[in-house]
Order: sequence, then C-alpha cells, then structure tokens
Amino acid sequence: MRRGGSTMWQFLAGLVVGLALGWWLDWYLSREDARALRAEVAQKNAAIAKLQKELLEARQGGAHPAPKAEAAAPAPVEAHGEPEEAITAYCVKCRAKRPMQNPRRVTLSNGRPALKGTCPVCSTGLFRTIKL
Ligand SMILES: [Zn+2]
Repeated sequence: MRRGGSTMWQFLAGLVVGLALGWWLDWYLSREDARALRAEVAQKNAAIAKLQKELLEARQGGAHPAPKAEAAAPAPVEAHGEPEEAITAYCVKCRAKRPMQNPRRVTLSNGRPALKGTCPVCSTGLFRTIKL
C-alpha cells in the first residue's frame, strides 16, 4: 500500500508529532518542578561561561600583552587625563615627549579612540591612544 496519499499522511503525522513534542517540551519546562532544574542548568551554564571567559582572558594576556594597534606606538605614551590643549606624545625620532601638532581624533580597528598628529620639531607622525 505505497501510494502518494499515504506519504502525505506520514508527513502530516510527523508534523503533528513534532508540534506536539515542541508543545510538550514547552509545557514540561514551564512546570514548577522543572524550574529548579532550569535554574541549576542556568547556574552551570553561567559557571562554564565564566570559566571560558577566564581562560580566554588568560590566553589573550599571555599571547598578546598589548592591543595590536598600540604596538606601533612607543610604550611610554599613555594618557593621564590631561586637558585637550596639552596633548603630548612620544616622538620616536626625537626620542622625547612632544606636544602634538594638529591632533586628530581617530578610531582604531578595535574601536578604541586615539589621537594622530605630527611632531612640531621633526614633523614625524605622532600617535597616542586615549583612555576612556
Ligand atoms: Zn620629533
């Protein structure tokens, strides 16, 4: 008895069973006694997520001590909340801190704000990141 009609009924039956299973699962998980189980699962998921985050941070801290874009700039260049008019940056050519000429605000590929300008003494490009 293999006719087109029976396959359609099988398909419909499968659909109904699938819907019923989904509904049952919904109902089952919304029951009072299932709430404790769900809370437990959520707690475990949170613990796992925390562990994964810690592992990821440890791995990033070990492999990449500094963000990629900052590698181009010398280490001593770090903002200390100075006012806008006194923007200084370390010039690699002068090997000294220089006031930044024509500072422009740029955004790095990692989303962090930074300042780009030129050295007033040797016209070398200056770069520094801004602390948020
Ligand atoms: Zn310079």
